[in-house]
Amino acid sequence: MASKKLTCLDCGQLNRVPEDRMTAAKCGTCGAKLLPGAAVEVDLATLQKAARHDDLPLVVDFWAPWCGPCRSMAPEFSKAATDLGAQARLVKLNTEQHQAAGAAYGIRGIPTMAAFAGGRERARQSGAMPAASIVSWVRGVI
Ligand SMILES: [Zn+2]
Repeated sequence: MASKKLTCLDCGQLNRVPEDRMTAAKCGTCGAKLLPGAAVEVDLATLQKAARHDDLPLVVDFWAPWCGPCRSMAPEFSKAATDLGAQARLVKLNTEQHQAAGAAYGIRGIPTMAAFAGGRERARQSGAMPAASIVSWVRGVI
């Protein structure tokens, strides 16, 4: 049976999951859902691992608590995560908390979204967007 590699967004463990059981799959190490159906916060190490190894597209929102447009986009990004379901995983990275991330990915302004698929970055988009636009942007680039 076909399986996909998915990095646990909670503990960073790389899991191998049968494709037809992805939505219910849990991490073999910590038990967290591998497809949380919501945008979850990750650290730099987890982001780098998932971006490199995952068989499912990954979209990260680089944000910070002091950034007003980031805060207004947060519920839109969450809604987009729900709407995209098993098509892609959406994660958030707090660039204030993880300052090395901005430099590692060359982030010049926030909010910035980056989409990863097949082990490399496919597209990047700066500025806040409503949920419907996030969904169509993601579908267009993955
Ligand atoms: Zn885990």
